[in-house]
Amino acid sequence: MAGKAAKVGVLALQGDVREHAALLEGLGADVVLVRRPEELAAVDGLVIPGGESSVIDKLSRIFGMQEPIRAAIADGMPMLGTCAGLIMLADSVADAIDGQESFGGLDVVVRRNAFGRQVESFEAELEVPALGEEPVKAAFIRGPVVESVGADAEVLAALPDGRVVAVEQGNLLGISFHPEITGETRFHERFLDRVAARS
Ligand code: GLN
Repeated sequence: MAGKAAKVGVLALQGDVREHAALLEGLGADVVLVRRPEELAAVDGLVIPGGESSVIDKLSRIFGMQEPIRAAIADGMPMLGTCAGLIMLADSVADAIDGQESFGGLDVVVRRNAFGRQVESFEAELEVPALGEEPVKAAFIRGPVVESVGADAEVLAALPDGRVVAVEQGNLLGISFHPEITGETRFHERFLDRVAARS
């Protein structure tokens, strides 16, 4: 990739695609909305937004994206999944709808809708040591919780009661909440650093 600017994609099948694209552009990234295998092949990293994981799953299969995304994960492409995006990156999903599949890659079990319904959405200040001292302002909107963390994955953040809400494994980063709506840029910066280190 020498001599070429790193391009990053936002998976644009469903969810809050625009918020992620705007945040990444604000950080100077060259952003492509990814709906097709050719678009995925043209990027060096992928953000999987929040939305509804069962819909993202269905559309990814209809659009022929499931296998290319799995292959990109296996190949080490950096990815950041938020909320439904974390569910898509989890090896195992609890409380999934019938037949729901994920891309996998993170050695974790996540439980969908673990914090209850939309009206039970909340914001919390989170300590995320890997991102520095300043706490993260995290917005939880029907988010998943990481119920168990396998040997290959690492915990980046947990709520004060111990529930895990951010994990990392190699070039994959998955978080239960929505940094793109609280103006928190450090997860995306971490993702872009991974992209830069690889391209
Ligand atoms: N509850 C949604 C799901 O299961 C996730 C919600 C979100 O991404 N804000 O996919």
